[in-house]
Amino acid sequence: MHAMLDKPVKTRFAPSPTGYLHLGNARTALFNALLAQKQGGIFMLRIEDTDRSRSRAEYQFALLEDLRWLGLAWQEGPDSDSPQGPYLQSQRGDIYERYYHGLVEGGLAYPCFCSEQELKQIRKAQLAAGRPPRYPGICAQLSAGEIQRKRDQGLKPTLRFRVPEDELVEFEDLVRGPQRHRTSDIGDFVIRRSDGTPAFFFCNALDDALMNVTHVLRGEDHLANTPRQLLVLRALEYKAPAYGHIALLVGDNGAPLSKRRGAKSLRELREEGYLPQAINNYLARLGHVYEQTEFLSPEALVQGFDLSRMSRAPARFDVAQLRYWQKEAVTHASDEALWDWMAGRHVEGRIEDLVPNGSQIDFVRAVRDNTELPGEGCVLAGILFRDSIDYSSEALESIRLAGRDFFQVALALLPPTASDFKTYAQAVGKAAAVGGKSLFMPLRATLTGDLHGPEMARIFPLIGIERARARLQMALKIASDQS
Ligand code: GLU
Repeated sequence: MHAMLDKPVKTRFAPSPTGYLHLGNARTALFNALLAQKQGGIFMLRIEDTDRSRSRAEYQFALLEDLRWLGLAWQEGPDSDSPQGPYLQSQRGDIYERYYHGLVEGGLAYPCFCSEQELKQIRKAQLAAGRPPRYPGICAQLSAGEIQRKRDQGLKPTLRFRVPEDELVEFEDLVRGPQRHRTSDIGDFVIRRSDGTPAFFFCNALDDALMNVTHVLRGEDHLANTPRQLLVLRALEYKAPAYGHIALLVGDNGAPLSKRRGAKSLRELREEGYLPQAINNYLARLGHVYEQTEFLSPEALVQGFDLSRMSRAPARFDVAQLRYWQKEAVTHASDEALWDWMAGRHVEGRIEDLVPNGSQIDFVRAVRDNTELPGEGCVLAGILFRDSIDYSSEALESIRLAGRDFFQVALALLPPTASDFKTYAQAVGKAAAVGGKSLFMPLRATLTGDLHGPEMARIFPLIGIERARARLQMALKIASDQS
């Protein structure tokens, strides 16, 4: 394990409420939660809502709800009362002001009056000359008088951090190992926008320090920001957390998963019926390797988590893998949990209206192996409990192939209650002198309308003897009509 174990481990997830949580940021949250739990530490949630035009209360609310649904409980966050709060950056303006003031006093930051327009032209010229775009320090040496004159003209400055010249910024990334950057590659950067709101580099780093965060796991897209943040923390005389930059989650096309590219939000996956444990089992293995290949409980996911098992290569999201873990999650869920999961969904009718009271658990047991998403359970409920039935073309073919005599026998041998399918089928097989597929396929086709589906022994009692008789009569008619 890495250094800093002198302080209790504290990790955090620091989303900006500018959209719904998607799998990429859910994975970041999960890794931070797993790391904290593994070390017996604290997992904190901080809302980075400094971009007032893009942050929305509705997204913030959804974020908390989605994280709770995933089971990623934070011990400190917007809903907790702690001297380290508030946990919404929009409420921390006074705190930031104090630190801006200190930096300006110490000559470590300065007001910059360059307009967007000017900066754009400078960047353009630098690029045209084959140089990297960097702030050339126009306002770095303004005198107090010049600053006052510009203010008097009504100009609103940004605040720039003065980057020291010709130094090396080095750090050990928890995932990517040793990193080094030259300060000469970093231009003086904005830490407060002209409207007074804090810039990311500043408030993100400062809040981690003020909130005693020891470990930051975040997307690799932030790797280039880290040297700047380390410089800010050094200037403020704060110890930096250990940073680990996680390889991005990419889609089929190799491009990072993002809402714009059609990646599904957590809400959409939840609506479709994906279970949180399926998502966690999958995400925890994207960019992190577990020794165990089997489905892991929340506790086992924590136990097996190890920073040394994080990979640097981009992790590719594959919906087939998610489906695999979904199937596993269904297999591991209790009958009661699966009933609740299927209940309340409107797929071809409400399952609560279809499955009779008292049969719910038997129903779940019958269909769970054939149900990956709750809608499939609803369709099966329709097949089992509705009087009407639709036949697939293969089912019709199987019924016709079995022929009229087969169904006459099957009807004649129907027991008074639909309790024991095996004995019934054997009796039909014997009397009709058929076995194997020729026996089971037409019976399944008749009773369910399809050639595939849940185990007949389990669904026969649920279909019940009356419906079974009606369906056999229908099959007899279909088989008779052809001749
Ligand atoms: N608000 C930033 C983001 O959502 C946080 C980055 C970080 O984790 O430091 O990308």
